Amino acid sequence: MNNALDNPAYRHLFDNNRAWVDRVRRTDPGLFERLAQQQAPKYFWIGCSDSRVPANEIIDLAPGEVFVHRNVANVMPQSDLNALSTLQFAVDILQVEHVLVVGHYHCSGIKTVLDGRRVGLADNWLGHVREVMDSHAGRLADLSGPQARYDRLCELNALEQARNVCRTTVLQDAWSRGQNVTVHACIYGLKDGLLRDLDYSVGRASEIYRQFDVALRRLTSAAG
Ligand code: ZN
Repeated sequence: MNNALDNPAYRHLFDNNRAWVDRVRRTDPGLFERLAQQQAPKYFWIGCSDSRVPANEIIDLAPGEVFVHRNVANVMPQSDLNALSTLQFAVDILQVEHVLVVGHYHCSGIKTVLDGRRVGLADNWLGHVREVMDSHAGRLADLSGPQARYDRLCELNALEQARNVCRTTVLQDAWSRGQNVTVHACIYGLKDGLLRDLDYSVGRASEIYRQFDVALRRLTSAAG
């Protein structure tokens, strides 16, 4: 009978897992028992599926500390039941205090849109990024070269998706209940491993648009 674990590439994962469990048990012997009881993360991470942008590792948090949703190009469409359900679970049930929308530079999804390339079914999903590009066409055209436009669209997409999170009924309802939850936009640099805040942090409904203008202005002036 064919044993899947005879495949070295697959087997590798289980070997790694055993070694990881040993390491965790040495540094925090009660972790798995605690986590089996409950999760109480303070953070909800909405990021790109890109293999180079793993949430826990980047912010150096252990299992149980960050709730995660990832998709191609870290998009938060108001019509996506998967993203919305994960957001609702994070905010209503887990009562996270911070929702981070984390874009990253060198995002293949963003590049595809910028270059106007077709990749297949994902083009439909990337339409959400195309909308961001179109609504900031003037701002992007003002930049000096393709790399600057690429970087800026990665930043603008993170900002726009964070604003989309703020516009959902999930956040609107949480804020109207007086719940302490703040939405942030950040961007991660593959070249240096650094996470940067994009000056968009919203803790109540009345701040959504004003804060967006502030973030846009800072982005533009920082580029100088
Ligand atoms: Zn990406």
